Amino acid sequence: MNSFQILIVEDDQSVRNLITTTLKVYQYKYLTAATGQEAIKKSVSFQPDLVLLDLGLPDTDGMDVIRSIRSWSKMPIIVISARSEDSDKISALDEGADDYLTKPFSTEELMARIRVAQRRLSYIRSEDNSIRIFENGDLRIDFEAASVSCGGRQVHLTVTEYRLLKLMAVNVGKVLTYSMLVREIWGDALQTDIVSLRVHMATLRKKIDDQNRERPLIETHVGIGYSMRADK
Ligand code: CA
Repeated sequence: MNSFQILIVEDDQSVRNLITTTLKVYQYKYLTAATGQEAIKKSVSFQPDLVLLDLGLPDTDGMDVIRSIRSWSKMPIIVISARSEDSDKISALDEGADDYLTKPFSTEELMARIRVAQRRLSYIRSEDNSIRIFENGDLRIDFEAASVSCGGRQVHLTVTEYRLLKLMAVNVGKVLTYSMLVREIWGDALQTDIVSLRVHMATLRKKIDDQNRERPLIETHVGIGYSMRADK
């Protein structure tokens, strides 16, 4: 039995059954909640490792559940939404959700997201304030020296590229929205900054994600933002 425990927050019984059946196959422990209030209570009393959260709940909005959990915990939250609008995903991510799935989703997709969250969690748990070296696949960041290497080869970054990379590294596995990144780098989220964000990100990716890598470390979420993939 997997010791990883997942709280499933979903009022639609058929979706809930699909998720629990899948989790059983992969031997995950799980809890379920059908309302926002139940989700908030269970997240506090059981402290699960991960929350799968439907945004459309009968009593409260899923956003309130995210806000409530984020007031005391960093536990990974994956939003499950029937809303295909990017603005809903962006709001959920800005409130502190880590990732999102859009209904309908395949069980493979669900499991892939859970594995990403599990890897992210192991980074969060190993995190301590004295962390100096970040390693992810062949990427190595020395925070103290502000130096970056890929596969042992030194990579020269501009100040902005380095700050972007550091931000994604400390949030590995989490989707960062354009406005979150712009706010962190430039202090304000103007539309023009999103254009320059794209430019800096493009040059950063050229330096980090060269042709040698099978899948890029920095992933694009079209219309939403970027995330750094946790490489095994
Ligand atoms: Ca629902």
